[in-house]
Amino acid sequence: MSGLLIRDAAILTMAGEKPELLSGDIVVRGSAIASVAGRGEAAQPGAEAGAGEGWQVIDAGGMLAMPGLVNCHQHAAMTLFRGYSDDLRLMEWLETKIWPAEARLTGEDVYWGTMLAIAEMIRSGATTFADMYTFMEDVARAVSETGIRASLARGLLFLDRHGEERLREARALHEEWHGAADGRVTVMLGPHSPYTCPPEGMRKVLALAAELGAPVHIHLAETVEEERQCRSAYGKSPARYLAGLGLFAEHQVLAAHAVHLSEDDLDLMAGMRGGISHNPVSNQKLGCGVAPVQAMRARGIAVGLGTDGAGSATTLDMFEEVKTAAWLQKNRAGDPTALTAYEALRMATREGARALGLDGRIGTLEPGKAADLILVDLRKAHLTPRLDPVALLAYAAGGADVDTTIVNGRVLMLHRRLLTIDEGEVLGQVEARARRLIYG
Ligand SMILES: [Zn+2]
Repeated sequence: MSGLLIRDAAILTMAGEKPELLSGDIVVRGSAIASVAGRGEAAQPGAEAGAGEGWQVIDAGGMLAMPGLVNCHQHAAMTLFRGYSDDLRLMEWLETKIWPAEARLTGEDVYWGTMLAIAEMIRSGATTFADMYTFMEDVARAVSETGIRASLARGLLFLDRHGEERLREARALHEEWHGAADGRVTVMLGPHSPYTCPPEGMRKVLALAAELGAPVHIHLAETVEEERQCRSAYGKSPARYLAGLGLFAEHQVLAAHAVHLSEDDLDLMAGMRGGISHNPVSNQKLGCGVAPVQAMRARGIAVGLGTDGAGSATTLDMFEEVKTAAWLQKNRAGDPTALTAYEALRMATREGARALGLDGRIGTLEPGKAADLILVDLRKAHLTPRLDPVALLAYAAGGADVDTTIVNGRVLMLHRRLLTIDEGEVLGQVEARARRLIYG
């Protein structure tokens, strides 16, 4: 079997409750991690493995290896709308800008927009993303070709005549793509939100989720407006509305945002399978508020981090989410000990994997896990001195410090060069397509 030897790295496994820093080699066989700094397959030391035919060796001296980042909430193809309409309220942004432009989207637009997002994610250290959008077979094609890992959901809305058609597309996506691309693609069902899914539609989605055994990816309690609207329509908070339909008790759920939750809402969600995607940059940019992350974590709910689409968040750099998540919770609590650097990094890796239901496969550097990892080059002015790599990664590092990105044992970026994407073509395609979508 071919393999990969990462030689002489500082290694942050993210496996323990406390930071665990090792140094040495990481051996990857096929798609999986075989050993980490001598732990794992003892009989075949890295040097010996690396000497063999078909082995790739990466010298990681001066670099830190850590699990690839998990971006828990994305609308990847919305890179097409990056910087197009900022500084608007969410509903106004959707209704006057985004939905009209999206009505002109084709599958090819979505493919190229997703390719751009994937290029940016690989460049900034994200190795897995959870996506909800339209033309998902084109998203799946981009995921398959580029080598990244993704959990995909066809966005389901029931405000027009096309609800049933979208549901059929969701079923077809699951049949065709769940477990595809060497297991890198998994499929969820994506009822967009409480405000776009009235009870009748929501029940159909949940029946299909139960039939397929698929997790449910949904926006939840993102804005005060949503909360008000839900109370006036159903006399309940968004979380209670969904709980009443059996969402948290009966399904594995990935709930995005979860900003406006009461204690009562949080109690309803305690014990849920799956978790939350906390999207602090998007929330701050849209003035949505600060999610009660500490209260969620205190109830044992997995809280991962996401960027949301580039249409709203503008950037897909997960290192920004790590910083912002920590800073917001410290400010919310008025306490700098709240949400530590290591906890924020755990949210970006292991907790995110748990929120996606993928923690058995990814999220830590341990023998047997899929080889999804990044090398961060620490030989930089803003990352010196290296007294506490955890603090540097959480508070000083940025996506541009990622040197090498590996998914499922395959090197997707080596020393800042993308190996599976023709970046020049992607940039050109998106520039032209964005102009057509917006200016006609
Ligand atoms: Zn979203």
